[in-house]
Amino acid sequence: MLESLPSRLQNGRPLVCHGALGTVLQSDDEEFNRAPELLNLSRAESVLALQREYVAAGAELLGSFTFGANAVKLARAGLADRIRELNLAAVRLARQAADRTAYVAGTIGPTGELLAPYGELSAGRATAAYAAQAAALAEGGVDLFWIKTMSDLAEVKAAVAGIRSVSDLPIFCSLSFGMGGRTMMGVGPSQAARDLAELALAGIGANCGLGPGEMLPMLAEMLEACPEAVLVAQPNAGLPELAGGEAVYDVGPEEFADFARRCSALGVRAIGGCCGSTPAHIAAVAAALASL
Ligand SMILES: [Zn+2]
Repeated sequence: MLESLPSRLQNGRPLVCHGALGTVLQSDDEEFNRAPELLNLSRAESVLALQREYVAAGAELLGSFTFGANAVKLARAGLADRIRELNLAAVRLARQAADRTAYVAGTIGPTGELLAPYGELSAGRATAAYAAQAAALAEGGVDLFWIKTMSDLAEVKAAVAGIRSVSDLPIFCSLSFGMGGRTMMGVGPSQAARDLAELALAGIGANCGLGPGEMLPMLAEMLEACPEAVLVAQPNAGLPELAGGEAVYDVGPEEFADFARRCSALGVRAIGGCCGSTPAHIAAVAAALASL
């Protein structure tokens, strides 16, 4: 039986989180190119096997393969009528792998459109899209929601409002900072921490965008701005380099182990990996934290 997530986040060593799903499962098949989340049905065994590999590596928190399964993105792929089905299928696979030994986060990513006034998407439509996804994730039985790879605080607020209109489960939110130390919409770590703190979330932090070495100062800055925050981190396995048309990530498990030790010393409470990371990276994180 798992202890309650808020209590686990307050006590003991940092929580080991899952690594990348999309960059591991990526393939040139028709489903993946249309909407990666279709793999929860077309290649359910591969998704389940990967989730199980993360559990075997020591992950205590899995994420559903639902990063792009919101109404706005799925509508663009002609899949507007399959929001519930795809989110439910993804949670079922994560839950099956977790087998009551790991928490399951319902992963929620950006809509891929700019919110007004920068773009066409109204806050109301974004909120409704997130509410529909969150309702399906909650129905599937997630323990929490993790809003990730965000760059616009207005979209974060729409996502949080959408989730809270259908569920009172804990919420993590992580932003994606770039090399300049800001998100694509120009948000820096201190501002992000202060704005996110006002939303009373269970965890805030950074994912994607940067490798472990570049992400660490972002986390330190967030913590400096908000010392009470529960910080969560999922760096990429470095910055992708294009090799033969494919993105190659060159940061290995040892550097993730080092990152995990530094994060723990800093006070970060949940550590995993984003793009380019693999079960080997998460196993290194788990081993590093276990040996502290
Ligand atoms: Zn990523």
